[in-house]
Amino acid sequence: MSTLRTYLDYNATAPLRPEARAAMLAAMDAVGNPSSVHAEGRRARAIVERAREQVAALAGARPSEVVFTSGATEAANTVLRRSWRTIHYSRVEHPAVVAPVLSSPGRLVELAIDGDGVIDGEALAAALARTGDGAGPVLVAAQFANNETGVLQPVAQIAALARDAGAAVLCDAVQAAGRVALGFDALALDYMLLSAHKIGGPKGVGALIVREASTLAPLIIGGGQESRKRAGTENVEAIAGFGAAAEAALSELGDGARVAALRDAIEAAVKEIRADAVILAGGAPRLANTSLIATPGVAAETLVIKLDLAGIAVSAGSACASGKVGQSPVLAAMRVAPEIARAAIRVSLGRGTTTADAERFIDAWRNAVAPAPGDAHLRGAEGACASATSATTRQFSAAPVAASMGE
Ligand code: PLP
Repeated sequence: MSTLRTYLDYNATAPLRPEARAAMLAAMDAVGNPSSVHAEGRRARAIVERAREQVAALAGARPSEVVFTSGATEAANTVLRRSWRTIHYSRVEHPAVVAPVLSSPGRLVELAIDGDGVIDGEALAAALARTGDGAGPVLVAAQFANNETGVLQPVAQIAALARDAGAAVLCDAVQAAGRVALGFDALALDYMLLSAHKIGGPKGVGALIVREASTLAPLIIGGGQESRKRAGTENVEAIAGFGAAAEAALSELGDGARVAALRDAIEAAVKEIRADAVILAGGAPRLANTSLIATPGVAAETLVIKLDLAGIAVSAGSACASGKVGQSPVLAAMRVAPEIARAAIRVSLGRGTTTADAERFIDAWRNAVAPAPGDAHLRGAEGACASATSATTRQFSAAPVAASMGE
């Protein structure tokens, strides 16, 4: 196996940025508790407040609107555990949003989406009009960009429709952060979710962006940290890394055209290798870094393993759990045919992706998708479980077959 690795799974998590590492190491030497009044405490507080400014700049928000959490999942739960009268949401939302939505006691309205997974504005307006008057707040949950397809939602339009109807908006900006301008204040959003590890910060820290005047009750109760919106001593090191990553990510917004060119070259090559390859949501407005590719008859799980052996890290759209091949809820909601969904491979690029990486990927893809005659087992395999006896899969028998894209 080649030791030279090409990492094309930035939507799962991005490599730690050197700026974030340096900020975390420096913060480790700050001995104080940010709530303490002495000099040590004030030093730790200064680190947290500097990071708050950096994250606020990335979100297009004010520092007073940033609440640090353990990640976007906690931030989503904080918002969704409130008793909403009605929640409008769609099935393309991340499980971090869908799961707490589905456990909410309020009325749930599933929004119509088109075949690319884009929320239909007219359908949203009609659904909001049907919500009617009543006691209790109404929420619209709409992500900025999808983690599997990269598709962008018309967030400005959704926010305007919600505002007109008196509904609040929760926007999961985890995948959009550092890739497109966010504009929490400009779009007059009510809640935004961010996660540090998707932008080159550490795992296990994120933020809820929320209006300073919000009366949202904390999910984690205890001390009065984070303006009484999230209890517990702040994770100063992780927050410092998040802040540094946010600043670096914001300064790299202009890298999108370079990344898009690499992504487009990959897509063109994939189509050239197999003319029947499908780029899911390829015609929709989407992030420059994400491509969801399906080659009919080539099982995604098998392909992930084959590419991994060739030194390429990508994700599959379906996972083999307990002997069953699952289907991505996002692709099911987009009404993608099961045989295409089972073949879907997510390729997600980032700041470290080079032309050489794209070329290595294309070579490995060509070998894996258009195998030499003796390797015919790779064609027509219907899911990793179906091909579990293949030589390729057997090499991985001690490890899970593939990771899903619920990240
Ligand atoms: N929302 C989206 C779109 C994601 O891709 C992820 C990633 O896992 C999350 C939410 C959850 O973020 P976290 O890992 O910080 O809980």
